[in-house]
Amino acid sequence: MKAITLLGSTGSIGTQTLDIVAQYPDRFRIVGLTAGRNVTLLAQQIRQFRPEIVAICDEDKLQELQEAIADIDPQPILLAGESGVVEVAKYGDAQAVVTGIVGCAGLLPTIAAIEAGKDIALANKETLIAGGPVVNPLIEKYGVKILPADSEHSAIFQCLQGLPEGGLRRIILTASGGSFRDLPIDKLAEVTVADALKHPNWSMGQKITIDSATLMNKGLEVIEAHYLFGMDYDDIDIVIHPQSIIHSLIELQDTSVLAQLGWPDMRLPLLYALSWPERIQTDWPRLDLVKSGDLTFREPDHEKYPCMQLAYAAGRAGGSMPAVLNAANEQAVALFLAEKIQFLDIPKLIEKVCDKHQIDNCKSPALDDILAADRWARQEVLTKSMELGDRILSVR
Ligand code: NDP
Ligand code: MG
Repeated sequence: MKAITLLGSTGSIGTQTLDIVAQYPDRFRIVGLTAGRNVTLLAQQIRQFRPEIVAICDEDKLQELQEAIADIDPQPILLAGESGVVEVAKYGDAQAVVTGIVGCAGLLPTIAAIEAGKDIALANKETLIAGGPVVNPLIEKYGVKILPADSEHSAIFQCLQGLPEGGLRRIILTASGGSFRDLPIDKLAEVTVADALKHPNWSMGQKITIDSATLMNKGLEVIEAHYLFGMDYDDIDIVIHPQSIIHSLIELQDTSVLAQLGWPDMRLPLLYALSWPERIQTDWPRLDLVKSGDLTFREPDHEKYPCMQLAYAAGRAGGSMPAVLNAANEQAVALFLAEKIQFLDIPKLIEKVCDKHQIDNCKSPALDDILAADRWARQEVLTKSMELGDRILSVR
């Protein structure tokens, strides 16, 4: 029986992780849960999974949560705020922590879990992208494992099993192409939030769905792959694969290429992150290559989607630059979701902020440098988006 704590239990990753726990009650047990502000769903989850400790990030929601679970016996320890989430992350005998929080908000809880000796099932890629220079040495220091739950990185991790040291030559990340993959470039200026939220293959949280539409998600995954697998940026490629059946590939020194395939279903990488190195038999739909039909591939279009190259550049710059790229992206996506900027403003704002950070890029950042870079980049995006204000008003 594996004891796990789940951060971000009310989100897309969180609810799918709990589906797995519900399906395999003799294998997994929930120790702790955290959510942002969704009291109704969190209360329901507490009732079903009976965690020992729970945190809700929005402190204003604590009383509502207390009332919603007042009849439950025994009561879990209830905490609130960012510090509450950190307490849950490091609590008790959980062996692994699933990080399903969205954004850099996952960084401090993830570090707390590592310092408490817990393995990390990593969905929250922003944490590693912003915090790689700090997180990777901590993983080494505390001897914990980082088990990728992002589907591409899970695919690579699965292909790497049993590969001798030095055998890996190249990583090939597949990308669905996002909501606008078949839209001509000159139509991108007019797209709405609702259009961008219609992902062709995956059902996910809003932020990552917009990242998929801009292809920043793939750029972020390039940096994630660099930190997870230690590959140079020159040896990490992207290929568009609209069917999302091949979840990624690795090329070996002798030119042999290995891939991992499956229906697009996040439960599979999540289950493997929880069960590694074991393989648990499931009753999920099995891949049928005839039904899945043609598997096609094309080159990524960097003119249409500048975010991928912005991410490669930030990754190559290293230091605090990936944290700046990530924070600028988070803030720009939030403004787009709030209909304050247009879709094509997202890469423009990120580029401006990254350019400005070049002279201040901290090459070997400590945690405080990363947090400062994150705060600075968010503020810069807000300031620069105001400068766009007149244009936006004239366009709308
Ligand atoms: P969702 O938006 O669906 O869920 C996010 C979760 O985090 C919710 O439980 C939310 O709480 C909580 N949350 C939000 N903000 C904060 C905060 N500031 N502090 C603490 N908790 C917070 O996101 P996803 O599940 O889609 O994504 C989660 C992570 O996994 C992301 O990093 C994403 O990139 C990654 N990922 C997701 C995939 C997917 O299929 N969804 C695939 C691969 C990676 P509440 O809703 O209660 O406010
Ligand atoms: Mg992915």
